[in-house]
This record gives sequence, structure tokens and C-alpha cells, in this order.
Amino acid sequence: MISIALDGPAGAGKSTIAKGAAKELGFIYVDTGALYRTVGLKFLREGYTTELNCDIEAVLKTIEVDIKFIDGTQHVFLNGEDVSDLIRTPEASMMASAVSAKPPVRAFLLEMQRKLARENNVLMDGRDIATVVLPNATLKFFVTASVEERANRRYKELIEKGMDVNYDDIYNDIETRDYNDSHREIAPLKPAEDSIIFDTTGNTLQESIDAIMTIINERLN
Ligand code: C5P
Repeated sequence: MISIALDGPAGAGKSTIAKGAAKELGFIYVDTGALYRTVGLKFLREGYTTELNCDIEAVLKTIEVDIKFIDGTQHVFLNGEDVSDLIRTPEASMMASAVSAKPPVRAFLLEMQRKLARENNVLMDGRDIATVVLPNATLKFFVTASVEERANRRYKELIEKGMDVNYDDIYNDIETRDYNDSHREIAPLKPAEDSIIFDTTGNTLQESIDAIMTIINERLN
């Protein structure tokens, strides 16, 4: 099986690039952030704040997370309910970042990700795919872009979805998540030694997909 890891900060364009490249390659696209968001949604529903003053393991025991591919698109399920859209709110983003810093949560989701890569050719997007989940991935990319550009992209995306959001809040959320993701003790956001650094600042998404496909085709052939 071939596995391609795509790690990087929020809003760098990973998911769109990964989706486009997976389609061209005929691989499945696995969005691992959706798994952390699904776990985060359960903590939100239980009424916890991002301080997470609770028994994490006890809450995890009440959670079943499933991932299914319907017409090639990933759907995530929380205790049988399809929550693929519900996990996209800014509150779910912040909660995903909070729960993802907790070792029991990372352990809870690890095997599911590895199993997907054992059974399928995957393009897997996340924060620690190259460093922790799939250290033997066939190819590893670290996708990044400036904070301004990432905030702009995320703002446009949410406005297009009809959400009532504010640019400054998004900018601050991205900075906070970057900080949390790269400073946590467990599986911090950082390139693996053998990751290819791929900066998408100033590129259109199609330019980024074309550029990454060129590298993938060169390396896989
Ligand atoms: O990729 P996305 O922005 O949807 O991820 C939501 C949050 O989940 C991130 O801010 C990060 O804290 C966490 N995450 C992670 N490891 C991954 C994927 C996501 O810690 N592999």
C-alpha cells in the first residue's frame, strides 16, 4: 500500500490539496482532523469547556467514532450519528485543538488511522501523520502558508458556507491553534526529518495541487 502524509497548520490548504491529489491518484483521502473534531464535539455536547476539567478517559468510554467513505467522500460518525457537518463550527475547531493535546485522545484515535493506511492507498492529512501515525509513509509533505493567507482562506470558506464569522476572530483562532498544536508535549505539529516542505502562500489551490502532483509523480515513479 502507498501512503502519503500531509501535515501542516490549520488553513494551509491541506484538505483541498489532498482531496484534489487523491482524486488524481485514485487514493482515499483521510482527514484526521475530523476525528479529533468528532471527539471534541462529544466534549462540547457534554458541556465541557476547552479547560477540560473532567475525567477524559471516562468520557472516551462513552464515545464510538466511525469513519466511512460514501461515494469517495469521508463521513465521520459519533455513536452512529453522521456529524460530518456539525464538526465544522469554530467552537468545534477550538475543542478539537484542546482534546487533541490529551494523550488518551491521541491513543484512542491512533489505531483507526493506521488501519486505514494498512488497508488502502491513502493521502492522509493531519498534524502528526509523518512523525507518529505513519512514520514509514511512502512520501511526506509539510504544507504551510502565512497566517494572513490562511486566515483569509478560512474566512472566505466559512462565509461561502453562510456562517456568520468575523475575520479577526478567525485570525486569532488560527494563531491560537498554531501555538497549541506546535507547543503541546505529545505529537506536536512539526515536519518529520524527511518531510518535503511545501509552502502554498501566493498559490491558487489548483497551482498547489499541480505542484504537489508533479512532486508525487516524480517520487513514485
Ligand atoms: O485539520 P483540522 O483543522 O480539522 O484539525 C482540527 C484540530 O485537530 C487541529 O487544530 C489539531 O489540534 C487537531 N489535530 C491533531 N492531529 C491531527 C489532526 C488534527 O492534533 N492529525
